[in-house]
Amino acid sequence: MTDVQYVAPRTLDEAVKAFAAASGAAKILAGGTDLLVQMRAGILKPGLIVDIKKIAEMTAVEELKDGGFRIGAAVAGAVLRDHARLKKAWPGVVEATNLIGSTQVQGRATAGGNLCNGSPAGDSVPAMVAAGAIVTIQGPKGRRDLPVEKVPAGPGRLNLTPGEIVVCFTLPARPKGSSDAYLRMIPRTEMDIAVVGCGVSLTMDKGTVTAARVGLGAVAPTVLLVEEAGKALVGSKVGAGGLDDAALAKAAAACSAACRPIDDKRGTIAYRTKVAGVLLKRTAAIAAERAGRN
Ligand SMILES: Cc1cc2nc3c(=O)[nH]c(=O)nc-3n(C[C@H](O)[C@H](O)[C@H](O)COP(=O)(O)OP(=O)(O)OC[C@H]3O[C@@H](n4cnc5c(N)ncnc54)[C@H](O)[C@@H]3O)c2cc1C
Repeated sequence: MTDVQYVAPRTLDEAVKAFAAASGAAKILAGGTDLLVQMRAGILKPGLIVDIKKIAEMTAVEELKDGGFRIGAAVAGAVLRDHARLKKAWPGVVEATNLIGSTQVQGRATAGGNLCNGSPAGDSVPAMVAAGAIVTIQGPKGRRDLPVEKVPAGPGRLNLTPGEIVVCFTLPARPKGSSDAYLRMIPRTEMDIAVVGCGVSLTMDKGTVTAARVGLGAVAPTVLLVEEAGKALVGSKVGAGGLDDAALAKAAAACSAACRPIDDKRGTIAYRTKVAGVLLKRTAAIAAERAGRN
């Protein structure tokens, strides 16, 4: 077995330098819950591991002056769960991150690692897409921002250039009457990979939906932003029974239409396509109910 070098820089600049200098032979280590499993299985054999968990900027959750939040890419899910103000503003993002693995896994696993692993079924990604999260990336040529849905390029592939590291996620400020939710369908009760994952974020004003975004996971080569589903919800009235049935049906149909899933042991194409619509209805109902309380 070849030696693996390990570095744990204290600054992002040092991390980028070490990562870029290894020109493709290095891997970033956040929680390691994907990376170490893949190394043990012999799928990955990096010459250098760059541990980012000692970099202050990447391990902090910051509430911004405008009411938004900046979540470091190396913050563990358990830390997000314990952040009361983040949980109040973005319960869907927090619940999605906390569906990842077990209590032990959540003590390590990060949203940055979930995104950068590149799985179309990563649980935090559809919730981040629904939230409109902006991802800050730093590489040898400087910093840039990308909407989270533009980061994955395909299963296990990202739109990052060599040497680039995901630094943080920025969640926007929430207008009054806003909330979000995430649900996934798995064949078991926990510790499984989503057959479909759905994130919905919406804003309501005097009983009418004024903004909505929908993220769908595990139904295409990358997590999807389903713009048509969000549009179908906007303008709909929320009555005593919750969201308007016609708007929900239209949004569900948009989700099913967006699906380009694989057939595998967890679910057929027809099953995933149907479940995408069902989950949209359930997730939107939870988001609307939460938004009504804010
Ligand atoms: C028992 C178990 C159960 C699991 N259950 C689930 C589940 O229910 N849902 C789910 O979605 N996932 C699940 N996973 C997968 C895994 O836990 C998640 O994908 C997790 O979010 C990965 O985060 P991490 O910090 O551990 O990433 P790491 O393993 O540290 O990194 C993952 C990949 O991303 C790269 N990377 C990490 N951070 C960055 C960065 N900032 N910039 C650039 N590249 C980076 C790494 O080099 C690596 O290739 C499970 C894993 C295990 C072992």
